[in-house]
Amino acid sequence: MHNEELWQRYMGEISKVSNLNELQTIKVKFLGKKGEVTLALKNLKDLPPELRPEAGQKINTLKRLIEEDLEKREQELLQRALDEKLSKEAIDVTLPGYSLKLGKLHPLTQVQHRIVEIFTSMGFSVATGPEIEKDYYNFEALNLPKDHPARDMQDSFYITEEVLLRTHTSPVQVRVMEKYAPNLPIKIISPGKVYRRDDDATHSPMFAQCEGLAVDRNIRFSDLKGVLLTFIKELFGPKTKMRLRPSYFPFTEPSAEVDISCVICGGLGCKVCKGSGWLEILGAGMVHPRVLEMAGYDSSMVTGFAFGMGLERIAMLLYGIDDLRLFYDNDIRFLQMF
Ligand SMILES: [Zn+2]
Repeated sequence: MHNEELWQRYMGEISKVSNLNELQTIKVKFLGKKGEVTLALKNLKDLPPELRPEAGQKINTLKRLIEEDLEKREQELLQRALDEKLSKEAIDVTLPGYSLKLGKLHPLTQVQHRIVEIFTSMGFSVATGPEIEKDYYNFEALNLPKDHPARDMQDSFYITEEVLLRTHTSPVQVRVMEKYAPNLPIKIISPGKVYRRDDDATHSPMFAQCEGLAVDRNIRFSDLKGVLLTFIKELFGPKTKMRLRPSYFPFTEPSAEVDISCVICGGLGCKVCKGSGWLEILGAGMVHPRVLEMAGYDSSMVTGFAFGMGLERIAMLLYGIDDLRLFYDNDIRFLQMF
């Protein structure tokens, strides 16, 4: 009678169980150390000795029934939990996939690659050099001795009296000449970062340049003009015109500022070209004999030309951008447009 009641109570409670935690609670309640079945077994000792065997057998039968039932229900719950998990994790092949966002090259890098491509197609190779440079290579070997007034135009970041962040990529030209002199020819371009103490809408303390140098016998000013005209037409389009104006650089003689017909108005005059129809894009000239001599060449036998341009300036004209600082803001909305 007592056992029958216990079984009914067990069945009543276990039928409400819906997960493994609840099942475990019931298991403890009936079969645990202080569980009801366990207590019933302990209570056998209170019975008269002659009744104990039969009563004990009955309780053990009940215990086995409960154990078997719990085992069966536990397996069912485990299977159900597994089925649920599998159905949740099922792969829906109709869902759109995750797309990987591809990065892009920075517009300045794109412009640099384009410039390198044009000059290498004309037989130039790429040379690079240190951004932390000796005063000698940055100034002196380029015919800019310590007291030269033109140094003021390139105020730099000095690390010591003799070491600074390079203000232009020209020291690469000196290093290349020094390495190869007196061998000929040299035809290089040197793109890279340079540093000056400037900061406004058209100047940044760090910016990028690309310089070019050709040294050989019989190099003439017309060679310089031909190379630059080819470059300009390749980069800005075949209708672009070029104009040279006399200028001054300590490391070239003669020197010229190079203008192109305005890429916006085609030379008619607009706001960008300030009504002139022309845009200044680079400086160039014949390598100064003293620069050649210092690098180890005989300037009576050898001539050369050099040119240099700011990559930001070129990129601003190519893309029609009016503030150089946009290149360094790292605004993804801006960068995605290129
Ligand atoms: Zn214009």
